[in-house]
Amino acid sequence: MKQGTICVHAGYSPRNGEPRQMPIIQSTTFKYSTSEDMTRLFDLEDNGYFYTRLQNPTNDMVAARIAALEGGVAGMLTSSGQAANFFACFNICEAGDHMISTASIYGGTFNLFAATFKKMGIDVSFVDQDASEEELEKVFRPNTKLVFGETLSNPGVRVLDIEKFARIAHAHRVPLIVDNTFPTPIFCRPFEWGADIVTHSTTKYMDGQGVQVGGAIVDSGNFDWKSHAEKYPGLCLPDPTYHGIVYTEQFGKLAYITKATSQLMRDFGCIQSPQNAFYLGLGLQTLDVRVRRHNSSALKIARWLQSRPEVKWVSFPELEGDPEHERQLKYLPDGTCGVMAFCLNASREEVSRFTNLLKLATIETHVADCHTCILHPAVHTHRQLNDEQLAEAGIDPAQLRFSVGLEDPDDIIEDLRQALEGGLTQATSL
Ligand SMILES: *Cc1c(COP(=O)(O)O)cnc(C)c1O
Repeated sequence: MKQGTICVHAGYSPRNGEPRQMPIIQSTTFKYSTSEDMTRLFDLEDNGYFYTRLQNPTNDMVAARIAALEGGVAGMLTSSGQAANFFACFNICEAGDHMISTASIYGGTFNLFAATFKKMGIDVSFVDQDASEEELEKVFRPNTKLVFGETLSNPGVRVLDIEKFARIAHAHRVPLIVDNTFPTPIFCRPFEWGADIVTHSTTKYMDGQGVQVGGAIVDSGNFDWKSHAEKYPGLCLPDPTYHGIVYTEQFGKLAYITKATSQLMRDFGCIQSPQNAFYLGLGLQTLDVRVRRHNSSALKIARWLQSRPEVKWVSFPELEGDPEHERQLKYLPDGTCGVMAFCLNASREEVSRFTNLLKLATIETHVADCHTCILHPAVHTHRQLNDEQLAEAGIDPAQLRFSVGLEDPDDIIEDLRQALEGGLTQATSL
């Protein structure tokens, strides 16, 4: 099946007389007839539901749809994208371990790795994703357990050289985890380029309506944990909390997701509510149609912005001449996403006037849903930085982050035009 069909059908196929739409199983617990039935569930001998903190049928149907879109063997939903990235790493990394992440990643993930993982005893080295393989080699240590990156970084929209990172991770016998939130599996399937595990903030395009916060993890089933058993004792040695079962022995290719569910979900409880999973399932049905529209509108708007004298630069990987363009053609030939950055020839105050004059585009910290929105980093997310620090972070005081929604692109352009013409002084708009 092609992606558009998987969006509509994977994960749920009703039998005779069952609901056409995926049902919400809004129940904390599940009933069993005999004590032995329940015992087998607690020993992980039978596959079944017993408590929604660990697993729920609605969640599993939606997770299976995402796993099918990514081409993986198993998936799970989490309460947020943050929880997905936390679980994806913590499932194979613990106190005393080390991991490597690219530096241009989502701010929340950066904090998780740089501050909270540090408190948990996990050391994270951040690398420039353009670093050569020789430079990257030097960052690995005997206790390195994984490499992490984002297919398209938020907010910089930089394209990860997935093959390069997979090659170097595998040479050091560790998996590559890729956050595929921005392109979604419609535009890129990281497993096809060698990634082992994929994560998502489903809060963004997958939901697409701005109604649910959620996350997902998908395992390709390709990483051979057993050949590196000394690095991954949690997967390859007996688990005393389940009578000594060994995940890789008992669950084969499902070992990683089964461990994350039966240990991390059991103990941390970052489960997505079945109601939210249902909204996510609805969103996924139209994902293929929506992201193509987000992307084609964004490209049209990026080109229009480039043609305006008030605009200093536009950063969007599909623009010819963009530093990310070559990698975009390789990894994301059909499209990237609807998020771009652009910079005005204007003072900070004029930029604020411009954003205040926008009528369709709203000022929001969110990105990647059906509503067009804008953010002014120097005045919002990065306002604690002075001009010098902004320059160090590579942010121009007149730079904007723009997330193109599903409105008609001509209306979005008209909105930008009236705000540029009304907000900027004559001198800069000429
Ligand atoms: C938003 C985002 C996250 C965090 O997801 P939440 O659902 O907000 O917890 C992680 N990674 C990327 C790339 C994101 O855009």
